[in-house]
Amino acid sequence: MATTEFEALPAVESAQRRLGTLVMKFGGTSVADPGKIKDVARRIVDARGQGNRVVAVLSAMGDSTDDLVRLAYEISPRPKPRELDMLISVGERISCALAAMAIHDLGAEAISLTGSQAGIVTDTVHGRAKIVDVRARRIHEALDQGRIVLVAGFQGVSTDYDITTLGRGGSDTTAVALAAALGAEVCEIYTDVDGIYTADPRLVPEARKLHAVSYEEMLELAASGAKVLQVRSVEVARNHSVKLHVRSTFSAADGTWIRKEDERMLEKALISGVSHTRDEMLYRVDGTTPARLFAVLANAGVNVDTIVRAGSEILFSAPAEDRDAASEALDGLGVEWNARDDLGTVSVIGAGMKSHPGVAARAFEALAGAGIEPDLVTTSPIKISCHVRSEDVDRAVAELHSAFELDAPEAERQHA
Ligand code: ADP
Ligand code: ASP
Ligand code: MG
Repeated sequence: MATTEFEALPAVESAQRRLGTLVMKFGGTSVADPGKIKDVARRIVDARGQGNRVVAVLSAMGDSTDDLVRLAYEISPRPKPRELDMLISVGERISCALAAMAIHDLGAEAISLTGSQAGIVTDTVHGRAKIVDVRARRIHEALDQGRIVLVAGFQGVSTDYDITTLGRGGSDTTAVALAAALGAEVCEIYTDVDGIYTADPRLVPEARKLHAVSYEEMLELAASGAKVLQVRSVEVARNHSVKLHVRSTFSAADGTWIRKEDERMLEKALISGVSHTRDEMLYRVDGTTPARLFAVLANAGVNVDTIVRAGSEILFSAPAEDRDAASEALDGLGVEWNARDDLGTVSVIGAGMKSHPGVAARAFEALAGAGIEPDLVTTSPIKISCHVRSEDVDRAVAELHSAFELDAPEAERQHA
């Protein structure tokens, strides 16, 4: 019939678009209650309606992972890591099953899968497992059948067939790993802020939303406290060239693109952002060699960050959550050691730093002007990190944010 001729062009176009796979990840606040899950379901169905093959990765509802962890410690002071993973992986499964129900009610087909069912294979390190393989056959089959696939974030199955979890914030990594495995060009991270800001917008109201951030900058931001993305997820994205689009669940506005560095990112602003942490432990150890010390700490699973050697002393920092493991390891070594728990960090990060001297001088001047003297300073080619007293962290962030004019419109790096 004549009408088919007129339909040919759009049909070809939509067939091409149908090839696109879209991975959408929704964080805990985005699925915090039944109403929000229904809204998320609508958004997922809309993306499917635009011709995408849609895989959605969901986090546990609201703070339910925290609740599960608390519950475990009410039962036992030292829950077995295997059982803890069995327990805390449950939250994501609940969100996915509920979202699948909501999607059915909107007239679309959906299937919810645990990490294990989705083929997320990890190593055997409970509590912070690494994804080693994605066996996506089941996801592909479901997508081929025209279904929306919901995958429980934050979890997988180990090479020993046990359920593992990927560390806090791990749903980001589930999503990016799936995007890489499925050949999706973009992984959308939906969250409760509408992008990556020049500082945590909850702490700095003047913070500006960045238009684009390089993988390297995002890695440094995440590693130095901007918990909006799990560090590992950015590593996976960079290694597999998956573009990330961090955006709001609650609006249609464009968010922040995380992708390969380009010239325009370097031109626009020297510094892209300021990040902070509150609970750092700084250890001082005497009477051993770095080789011995760090081998023992690595074995104990302590995430060592800054390391400084001064004479016979070794100084290193590690997150507060690794405190017990570090104490045990240091006691076992039979060395002299002490620790400070009154420090946090504040970091300035920016790819533009590579080609512009004077950033450190400006940072120290700004801190000194506010009477803040860093205890320890570490740098990378695109980061300067200062340990300061915990009570000074908020002020240090504000001082650096304004010293580098991150509240100005230019800080946004607006470009097409
Ligand atoms: P989700 O539950 O969606 O995974 P998270 O709580 O893990 O969300 O991450 C989002 C939060 O990250 C925001 O609410 C914000 O307070 C915090 N955050 C910290 N630093 C930044 C930053 N530079 N830009 C945006 N958000 C940030
Ligand atoms: N629910 C997990 C957590 O709170 C994983 C995630 O949300 O990414 O850490
Ligand atoms: Mg998160």
